[in-house]
Amino acid sequence: MQAIGQSVIHLNGVGPKLQSALAELGIITVRDLLYYFPRRYEDLVIKSTKEANDQEKIVLQGVIASPAILKRLGNKRTLTIMRLLVDNQSIPVTFFNQPWLKQKVTAGQEILIYGQWNLAKQSLTGIKILANDNLTGASVDAIYPTNKKVPQKTLIKLIKQAIDLSLTEVVDPLPVVLQQKYQLLKEQNIIKWMHFPENLEQARLARRSAKFREFFLYSARLCQLKNAKTSDLGVSEQYNEEYVQQLMSSLDFSLTAAQQRALTEILRDMAQSKPMNRLLQGDVGSGKTIVAAIAMFAAVTAGFQAVLMVPTEILAQQHFKKLAPLLAKFQVTTTLLTSSLTAKQRKQRLAAIQAGRYNCIIGTQALFQKDVQYAQLGLVVIDEQHRFGVQQRKALRQKGINPDLLLMTATPIPRTLAITYYGEMDLSLIDELPQGRQQITTFWLRFNKLGQVKHFLREQLVQKAQVFVVAPLIADSSKIDLANAQDIYQKLVDLFPNQKVGLLHGQMTTIEKEQIMTAFQKQEIAILVATTVIEVGIDVPNASIMVVLNAERFGLSQLHQLRGRVGRGQRASYCILVSDPTNKIALQRMKIMTQTTDGFRLAQKDLELRGSGDFFGDNQSGLPAFKIGDPVADAKMLDIAYQEARHLFQSDQKLMDYPILKSYISNTQTNNID
Ligand code: ADP
Ligand code: MG
Repeated sequence: MQAIGQSVIHLNGVGPKLQSALAELGIITVRDLLYYFPRRYEDLVIKSTKEANDQEKIVLQGVIASPAILKRLGNKRTLTIMRLLVDNQSIPVTFFNQPWLKQKVTAGQEILIYGQWNLAKQSLTGIKILANDNLTGASVDAIYPTNKKVPQKTLIKLIKQAIDLSLTEVVDPLPVVLQQKYQLLKEQNIIKWMHFPENLEQARLARRSAKFREFFLYSARLCQLKNAKTSDLGVSEQYNEEYVQQLMSSLDFSLTAAQQRALTEILRDMAQSKPMNRLLQGDVGSGKTIVAAIAMFAAVTAGFQAVLMVPTEILAQQHFKKLAPLLAKFQVTTTLLTSSLTAKQRKQRLAAIQAGRYNCIIGTQALFQKDVQYAQLGLVVIDEQHRFGVQQRKALRQKGINPDLLLMTATPIPRTLAITYYGEMDLSLIDELPQGRQQITTFWLRFNKLGQVKHFLREQLVQKAQVFVVAPLIADSSKIDLANAQDIYQKLVDLFPNQKVGLLHGQMTTIEKEQIMTAFQKQEIAILVATTVIEVGIDVPNASIMVVLNAERFGLSQLHQLRGRVGRGQRASYCILVSDPTNKIALQRMKIMTQTTDGFRLAQKDLELRGSGDFFGDNQSGLPAFKIGDPVADAKMLDIAYQEARHLFQSDQKLMDYPILKSYISNTQTNNID
């Protein structure tokens, strides 16, 4: 057996205790050690004091001028002070809390000290004394991410052992052509230089190659997944084109070119026997719902059921109200399945669904509960899909035999992130808004200018405008000082006695929520005070003003979603952000919001401001985490690696000519990319 695949327990110095500590770091085998890469490096290049900048970390080479002095400061704190003779200059060097160093140095000894340079005082705060073999040897130290149980030194020793033992067994998973094309290091060199580079340039080259390797293997895995899905047999939906045309002509608008394009892609997928796996991206208000509705209708004309899952009850209600009458014109039956049904209602409805008496089913997560059975599920549409976890999506999909899947999202995903999140899906894009939409003008005001907002609202209300006012909290909180919906509601009732004001938040019952939404829709309510329950999907075309209080509490994507509730009709629309941002990022967000209404630009900015880790907030699970590469900072490299992987699979679907790559991506044990 090869050493590389063996457990770390076989290495010198590893007992059961260290073994389990290593396992916590994800290190199980010798191979894991080889691929346990450092986080950063300390450059231990020897410098003369004349070249060094203030506070720079440098290595000084010199001779110890006199024995070290140890000072005890109490609380176990110590200072060890020594003088180092460098080019005839005597430099004071102070080490904090390393009392043992006193014994380690003797006068006259030649030595290398790594530390932080103080230019004004011409002194060094010592970090460590470098081993003697460092006098001529490697001058870059790798720093590893680790926990308290496995010290850096132990890790380095073990990695050294692993390399001595098994480096020759390492093979190259990447095709040679790519190595040449992108000047990548051989796998063995990547490992050697990642861990023990002789200089920073070697470390940089190794890291570059390691990143590409990581991105490429990840992409290849995605391509393989996509291939595997393609070979699943799904349902081929022979929809009735004539009926579909009739439905489209019955609308009181015609589809935009982008909607038409997306629909064509979707219908083509549906007609094929392999299951559709498509993500429909379109900015807020671009008209995704109608595209989904037409696809659902098509599935029904082919003799299947179609479901539409949405994250909130309000949204389910809204879609139901809009789509049911539209579909009824063609004898298509639609029902609503949410958690607010009584047990009896639910039982009846489930029976009818199972019997196939409903063609289209719209609902929330209730759609995939255990007791829900479909007669002939052909198409699953998930709206605002980023609100659902991977498990929920899967559960719904398993309600049929490989039904077609259409995911929709209004949170535009920057291109490179789309690869990492949705690489195994096909993408359709609605990149234009329906004609006649009003620009939304966005203002940002501080709280002390709230008077202006009141004035503006008064003016607009006279002209029959409808207004959303969003607050971060429902009720008064003793803990945080933020606007709350209940207070704001009361204030607005007092302020505008002639206007009807409504209140909507997540703690109200479904029936209450529905009544309020209906009243707002019918323009019986002029001002709707709400929490973010209205964030996604709500469509009230006459509403033209969105006021967000404490806007700094919301991410850019969320603010964009909120703003997307207005500008849907003929009225000139406004978004007013009220906020006293307390940090730079919040301030930036406010500014960007006033500068653009393009969801893609905002998403890109959001990403830059927040970093990729946190893009969707905490709702999303099952995301890839790269160890070395950063999908944002290294976006271009990721893109190239992805294109190369796709290319490879196009030319050699089964990877016949790439057995090593194939075993790498088929066997999770043999690589480090997830
Ligand atoms: P989103 O993509 O944000 O889900 P919706 O599907 O809610 O957007 O559509 C927003 C509004 O635009 C709805 O009132 C819808 O009826 C309308 N709409 C959709 N497509 C068109 C179109 N081609 N022309 C005009 N209005 C449209
Ligand atoms: Mg929508």
